[in-house]
Amino acid sequence: MTPAHIVTDESIRLTFARDVSGLEMLPEAVARPTSEQEVAEILRQAHAERTAVTCAGGQTSTTGASITDQGIILALRGLDGIIDLDERAKTVRVRAGTWLGELKRRLASSGYLFPPDPTSEDDVTIGGAVACNASGARSLRYGPMRPHVLALRVALANGDVIDVRRTGLEKNTAGYAIAQEPVDWFVGSEGTLGVILEAELALEPLPRRVTGLGIPFPTESEALAFVVAARESRALSPRCLEFFDARAFAIARSARGDEQWASNAAALVYAEEAPAGGSDDEPPLDEWLALAAQHGARDDDVLAFDGESALRDARQMRHAVPATMNERGASYRTAGGRKVSTDWAVPYRRLDEAIHSARRLADDAGIEQAVTYGHAGNGHPHQNFVARDSGELARIERVVEATLRGVIALGGTVSAEHGIGKLKRRWLPLQLHPTQLGVMRAVKRELDPLGILAPGNVFE
Ligand SMILES: Cc1cc2nc3c(=O)[nH]c(=O)nc-3n(C[C@H](O)[C@H](O)[C@H](O)COP(=O)(O)OP(=O)(O)OC[C@H]3O[C@@H](n4cnc5c(N)ncnc54)[C@H](O)[C@@H]3O)c2cc1C
Repeated sequence: MTPAHIVTDESIRLTFARDVSGLEMLPEAVARPTSEQEVAEILRQAHAERTAVTCAGGQTSTTGASITDQGIILALRGLDGIIDLDERAKTVRVRAGTWLGELKRRLASSGYLFPPDPTSEDDVTIGGAVACNASGARSLRYGPMRPHVLALRVALANGDVIDVRRTGLEKNTAGYAIAQEPVDWFVGSEGTLGVILEAELALEPLPRRVTGLGIPFPTESEALAFVVAARESRALSPRCLEFFDARAFAIARSARGDEQWASNAAALVYAEEAPAGGSDDEPPLDEWLALAAQHGARDDDVLAFDGESALRDARQMRHAVPATMNERGASYRTAGGRKVSTDWAVPYRRLDEAIHSARRLADDAGIEQAVTYGHAGNGHPHQNFVARDSGELARIERVVEATLRGVIALGGTVSAEHGIGKLKRRWLPLQLHPTQLGVMRAVKRELDPLGILAPGNVFE
């Protein structure tokens, strides 16, 4: 196939051979369409020739989902731009290659919030965020991408283009639940069911007053007990409750250039208070501080982040942790090492127990403890290990698998945020019954009977 927008030069293929997983896979060709017609044409031809097609947006996938060594990488960054902002309906329609961070800033300048906030948002496309059902710290209040996606325009594997829209029904008994909202087929499908061309997204008014609080604790257990209490408090309205263990807190301190901040603390909780309903009420700081003190935090060490620029600083401090760990992991690539990142989650009250077991498993195996941080309010931490060579990588992966078995026993999930991609597919059967996997395969067969879309993602 040689439409003008498909190239096979090695130098260009190399620029699409890596995402953030630490894997490297050289595609056979790269297509960079700038219109829906071009995408449809590429898919029609690929379907006729049974050529594999893997979508790539910002390629920030941590699971190898946006790279391939089979067939074409379909790079969708050129399919960008806002199509329509409907202020009356509070919706925005955008093309798949639009950058999420840029979109959010444009919307904020018109007084709207698009809530999902992956920490990587400046490097993430709408198509990638929809395809991964991305989420972030503020998903504690707002949820992940899924509930905010109202409609999609999708190119199917054979090049046909379809529009799907949520019914908006409050009651519906027509057919199996799995068939009722086709938008949900594509959200979180990791490029395996169709190519997202456009998305219509639901917006909220920008909250008027948000305050961030960085609260250090003497022990991890006190920090995690505080998270549960803050989530369940009737006096507080947290929109995020983020946890940093001592190692993650050290990275955050350096990112702020403030090495002295609570240097003897074992953990940090970062919370944002945003009164519900866009009210102008003063944040209940006294209640936050009282609850923190009850759990062992000292007032003197608490930092408040008030106003847009301070909140941006806090966000950068949070982003520094995965970004630093990605760099550390990448430095061992030539020796066969990489960062190993988990995104398991458990019911939030069981997080302390889950982190303790995970640490015990690492100690028993004699591997260095992971940097552990993340969305504690949702029972969802990230453990970032660094494997310095392939032997250490295998040992870490055995510990991760044992951790995931414990997580499942606690009622958790093997992946709450980054998806399955190529790196985690062997762990999916730990969680899903063969019948559930069979239903997933049936959906895949119906939408992509030749299996040309993103081979290797999600399924072995
Ligand atoms: C430092 C760092 C921090 C991160 N933090 C978060 C976080 O807080 N929350 C979170 O959820 N994730 C996070 N991630 C992971 C990643 O950023 C998200 O999964 C993101 O949604 C991927 O978007 P992307 O545009 O980079 O997609 P890509 O990586 O290019 O692709 C991801 C998947 O989407 C598919 N895809 C891409 N575009 C389309 C399309 N148009 N149609 C169909 N399928 C498509 C690809 O085939 C692939 O399966 C982080 C990553 C990094 C590196």
